[in-house]
Amino acid sequence: MQSAEQILTNKSIRPTAMRILLMEHFLQFPLASFSLNELEDIFEHSDRITIYRTLKTFQDKGVLHTIEGTNSLKYALCEEECSKDGHQDRHPHFHCTICDQLQCIESVYIPNINLPKGYKADGVSMTIKGQCATCTNT
Ligand SMILES: [Zn+2]
Ligand SMILES: [Zn+2]
Ligand SMILES: [Zn+2]
Repeated sequence: MQSAEQILTNKSIRPTAMRILLMEHFLQFPLASFSLNELEDIFEHSDRITIYRTLKTFQDKGVLHTIEGTNSLKYALCEEECSKDGHQDRHPHFHCTICDQLQCIESVYIPNINLPKGYKADGVSMTIKGQCATCTNT
């Protein structure tokens, strides 16, 4: 597996201390998503603006994609094909109604949807609701 620093360099992001720290956090939980507030609690010694700017950079460079959560926007690691030229995340997200986690289901691919003439899609999002693997095991 690539180090946080390598991944950042590959996506032409200068690996600053904060960027490496955030990247390492996301690599630890590859399919999980985190909101700005959650990350602020985890990195309590970093300021909110710096965390926000880092997330924004990661999103622009194809490192993280956003997911609409119930109350907030969540950030999760991208698939390898994503770059600064665009996101290729065509997987559904799973919203667990017990633990309230939003996870990427990258093993599933959302197929192309045939739209009526004249419509142009910029992306597709699919959220599945239910109980996640961790919650059904307990
Ligand atoms: Zn992406
Ligand atoms: Zn759950
Ligand atoms: Zn995702």
